[in-house]
Amino acid sequence: MLIALLPGDGIGPEVTAEARRVLDAVCGSALSYEEAPVGAAGYRAEGHPLPPATLDLAKRADAVLFGAVGDPSCDHLERALRPEQAILGLRKELVLFANLRPAKLFPELADASALRPEVARAIDLVIVRETNGDVYFGEKGMRTTPAGRRQGYDIMSYDEDEVARIARVGFETAKARRGKLCSVDKANVLETSQLWRDVVIEVARDYPEIDLSHMYVDNAAMQLVRNPGQFDVIVTGNLFGDILSDQASMCAGSIGMLPSATLDVNKKGLYEPIHGSAPDIAGQGKANPLATILSAAMMLRYSLGKPEEADRIEAAVAAALSAGHRTADLGGTTTTTSEMGDAVLAAL
Ligand code: NAD
Repeated sequence: MLIALLPGDGIGPEVTAEARRVLDAVCGSALSYEEAPVGAAGYRAEGHPLPPATLDLAKRADAVLFGAVGDPSCDHLERALRPEQAILGLRKELVLFANLRPAKLFPELADASALRPEVARAIDLVIVRETNGDVYFGEKGMRTTPAGRRQGYDIMSYDEDEVARIARVGFETAKARRGKLCSVDKANVLETSQLWRDVVIEVARDYPEIDLSHMYVDNAAMQLVRNPGQFDVIVTGNLFGDILSDQASMCAGSIGMLPSATLDVNKKGLYEPIHGSAPDIAGQGKANPLATILSAAMMLRYSLGKPEEADRIEAAVAAALSAGHRTADLGGTTTTTSEMGDAVLAAL
């Protein structure tokens, strides 16, 4: 099975290198790798954040393991050439419409959560976020009003097939867990959300065993902090999911701990840590590689049909934490990126 390895920028190459070591230890020659530049690295090498050869590799591979993109030296570039466009391009070109972010607290890290430990300990949820539509992909632009004032606009829209497709991923995810799905929208104000809610209710007829509820996004943001233990699976649109998934992740501990998967209809996927390229700590050996190592475990589980290997990696991460290893984001003082990788390998 071929893995497209796209390390990207900043700490991306540092954390993907550790994930690669762990995958080698667990899967050996069952996996092969091809590496390609993406983001600012792609722009520097080929003049584009998503060079054609990188996109071709991502299409050919069985799964994509992605580090992070983003580089302050690219801030002056036109939007289409900025590193972050690579991730939007990959999502669109590979039709990766379902972003899954599990947020579960490792008990050893209860003190790292922004919430009180007794609240944080209850977090065990997955956010299923749509990533191919909504306001991010609608018509957008700058114009001048009749009164001569500048106006920015971004059109929010979903069609019913897009909503049904992501709703099914939400129901299936809930089916494989505790059977509870909360659909988050803003149906009291937005037409897009009214359609979202109507279609989710229609799809629910195929899943009578799932306990479906609906929540407005503002309430969901509040409930995630007040009582996150009430959620099993949350399904929501691109914009609301972007914000809620970052919020949920911080409730569960450090940004350096949380993995994600973005899947197509065949469960081919792109796997990446939820964090960015962290230019402030790049090249210093301070980055926590566990989010990327856990993303590799998700890749084994969701795209490569290797759930036991995924379990082994997750258990090794827990063991490394139990043994007291902590990178700086987890309150440690000396553990480096590669030492954390060593600790996971030792636990394996
Ligand atoms: P960031 O996630 O890169 O960093 C936020 C903070 O968290 C920083 O203080 C950073 O040092 C810390 N941090 C992040 N990952 C860490 C890790 N693994 N270990 C320890 N500490 C970690 O977010 P940002 O600073 O807002 O963005 C930096 C760049 O990354 C920007 O160019 C942004 O556009 C980009 N970005 C890319 C992605 C992606 O590739 N999917 C996602 C988010 C941001």
